[in-house]
Amino acid sequence: MTDRAYFDWNATAPLRAEARGAMLAALDVVATPSSVHSEGRAARALIERARSQVAALVGGEAKDVVFTSGATEANALALTPDLVAKGRRVTCERLFVSAIEHSSVLSGGRFAPEQVERLPVTAEGTIDLPALRNAIARAKTPLVSVMHANNETGVIQPIAEIAAIVHEAGGFLHVDAVQTAGRIACDIATLGADMLTLSSHKIGGPQGAGALIMRGVQPAAALLKGGGQERGFRAGTENVAAIAGFGAAAQAAAATYEADADRMAALRDRFETLLKIAAPEAAIFGATVPRLPNTSYFSVPGLKAETAVISFDLNGVALSSGSACSSGKVTPSHVLAAMGADPALSPGAIRVSLGWTTTEPDIDRLLIAWKHVAAALLKRQARAA
Ligand code: PMP
Repeated sequence: MTDRAYFDWNATAPLRAEARGAMLAALDVVATPSSVHSEGRAARALIERARSQVAALVGGEAKDVVFTSGATEANALALTPDLVAKGRRVTCERLFVSAIEHSSVLSGGRFAPEQVERLPVTAEGTIDLPALRNAIARAKTPLVSVMHANNETGVIQPIAEIAAIVHEAGGFLHVDAVQTAGRIACDIATLGADMLTLSSHKIGGPQGAGALIMRGVQPAAALLKGGGQERGFRAGTENVAAIAGFGAAAQAAAATYEADADRMAALRDRFETLLKIAAPEAAIFGATVPRLPNTSYFSVPGLKAETAVISFDLNGVALSSGSACSSGKVTPSHVLAAMGADPALSPGAIRVSLGWTTTEPDIDRLLIAWKHVAAALLKRQARAA
C-alpha cells in the first residue's frame, strides 16, 4: 500500500505522462504562434494540433475551439446576451442556470444580475424539466446553461432532453462539460449543446488551460480584447505549453476513458458496498440516478465534513467536502441545498472521486481511514450524550 491515496479527482487530476511530454517539448519552442517565421509556425503547429485533439474529444470541429485560461474563463466567454447564431446577431434577454452549477456559471457571466434566473433540481439532483420548460417559455431567446455532470454528486443531467426543450423555445444551450469529457461519452452534437466548456486539468492536462467549443453559436464579442488571437475570441499570446499539454491529455483521455470508466465504477461500487456495511446509516447522494463512474458523495448524521477531511488527511487520504472550489470556507453545499437534502446530513457531506490511477489498495486505505473517522465520531457522540 502506498503512503497516500488521492481521491480528489473532481478537483484536479494528476498530469498525464503524455501531457508532461508535450509540455516539455513545447517549452523549447521559441516564438509566439502569431509570428510568421519558421519558429512561429512551429509554435502555431503545436496549438493547431492541440485544437484538433481537443475537438476530437467532444466530436467538435477544430475551427470551433477557442482556447482560454480554464473553464472559468470559457464559461464567462459563453455566458453573454450577445450571440451570433448561424451568422445572425441575436440578443438573449435572460440567462437560465441550474441551481447546482459551478460558481463561474452561477455568477452569470456578462448578464446583469437581474437577467439571471436559477432553475430548480429534483431531490436526486437532476434538473426539473417541467420547471425549465415553464421558466424559459416566458423569455425571448433564452440562453440556458446546464452542466453535463455535477462536480459534487457526479449526477449526469439529461442534456439531450434539455437541448430539445431549449431549442423548441427558440433558445440556446451552453453545457459545462468539465466533469464529463474524458470520463464518459461527451459528444457535442449528440448532446445538442450550442456551446461547451472544457477544463484541461480535469483530464490530466495542466491547470490554467481550458476551451470553449462552439457549434453554430458563438459569443458576439470577446471577453479579452487586444491582439486578435484565437480568431478574435480571446486576445493575448497563447500559453503554448499548457495548450499542447491540454491537447495531449485530450487525446490520451479519448483513447482510454471507456476502460477507465468500467474500472473506476467497479472500485467506486466496492467502496460504497463496504461503506454501507460499516455504516448502514450512510446516505449516498444521487445513487438512484445516472452518475459519473468515479464519484461517490455521502454523509452520515452527526459527521462534520471539515473535521472529517482533516482526519482522512492524517490517515493518508486526500478527499474533499463538497465542492473543492468552496473548500476552505465552511458553507453548506449549494448543491445539496438545491436538492433539499436533509439538514442533518449536509454538514457531513464527503466527496470521494477516483481516477485512472486509483487502485484497489487505495480503496482499502480509504476504508481503513473511514473506520478511524467513524470511531472518532462515535466517541464524540458518546461524550455529548
Ligand atoms: N465547472 C466545473 C463543473 C468545475 O468543476 C470546475 C472546477 N472546479 C470549473 C468549472 C472551473 O474550472 P477551471 O478550474 O478550469 O477554471
